[in-house]
Amino acid sequence: MISHHPKTQALLASDPFQLNEESSHLFLESFKENALFHYEHHLFTRRLWDKLGFHPHELKTEDDLKKVPGMMVHLFKEHEFCSVPREELALVLTSSGTGGQKSQQFLSQESLENVKKLALSIHQALGMASDKKYNYLCFTYDPAIANDLGTAFTDELLTNFTGKNEVYYGIQWDESKQQFELNESGVLEALKRFAASDIPTRILGFPALLFEMIQKYDLKINLGKDSWLQTGGGWKGKADQEIPKFEFRQFIQERLGIPEANQRDLFGMVEHGIPYVDCVKGNLHIPNFSRVFVRNPHTLDILPKGERGLLHFLCSYNFSYPAPSLLTTDYGRLGACDCGLPGDTLILEGRAGVSKHKGCALKALEVIRA
Ligand SMILES: [Zn+2]
Repeated sequence: MISHHPKTQALLASDPFQLNEESSHLFLESFKENALFHYEHHLFTRRLWDKLGFHPHELKTEDDLKKVPGMMVHLFKEHEFCSVPREELALVLTSSGTGGQKSQQFLSQESLENVKKLALSIHQALGMASDKKYNYLCFTYDPAIANDLGTAFTDELLTNFTGKNEVYYGIQWDESKQQFELNESGVLEALKRFAASDIPTRILGFPALLFEMIQKYDLKINLGKDSWLQTGGGWKGKADQEIPKFEFRQFIQERLGIPEANQRDLFGMVEHGIPYVDCVKGNLHIPNFSRVFVRNPHTLDILPKGERGLLHFLCSYNFSYPAPSLLTTDYGRLGACDCGLPGDTLILEGRAGVSKHKGCALKALEVIRA
């Protein structure tokens, strides 16, 4: 497919963790291209910029990005904001959140290809992609039964970054109960099978499910030093059981034989779409495909590095969903890491006004329409 957005293609073809004057220019140009598209194709976006008396053409320096108006995340939950006709969409991603509100994101074919490209690029840069074959244990729906594009998308995104041998899906349809359930005996058998195999393993999914399985069956196996654990989705709904990241990593190394350096967590928001992935030291590095500002929750002023505030995300890959500048209700701050990758890290500090998040983690990436 021919992209009409060359600046964004140039950004996505560049190294996500090489930060210098050139990378700043690449992001700025791509963001300008994207913001201009939404300004021209989405009325609400145009009114918001106009109201502030700021135009995408006025983006000339990295510092100007701080002037971009942020669109509150709740607007995207209440309205179906889209910058292209619905028939041009290739995928709609949804995630159920608190209070029955759904988060969603609309992806045109171009935007879908862009997000796949940048996710692969980030995983490659973090040394997580490989041509080697792996056995996969996924704590997600079995796509043979949940026959929709959501699982296909998740599957492709998560398992296509390496060669694949067996892929086992732990969450399966229970005909008698008419619901999806974790097939515990199937998961146990897969783990034993993979431990006995010469091929290394990758486990994907929610940390709480894996933690519960290990505790319940008192598991102690050795998947080998080339195996990986890639978690995501947090401890949603199980926040009371959450154990600190580094304690969890030690526990997994002890019980499954997966080295701590090969255990990586991923943070993503459906509306934003950029994956923030742990480096070897367990910190979420911010790639050049996005910008993260931390704002004072009362004044919305940008806070200095290290101070806690509301997270404001900028990205430029999506030419169908007008969320290039997303002001969230999540708290966080910017940190640093000495692993060798440059740039700031993202430290998450919870959601504003919600103590225990009870969203349905299992539905984190569910497709309602394709
Ligand atoms: Zn690091």
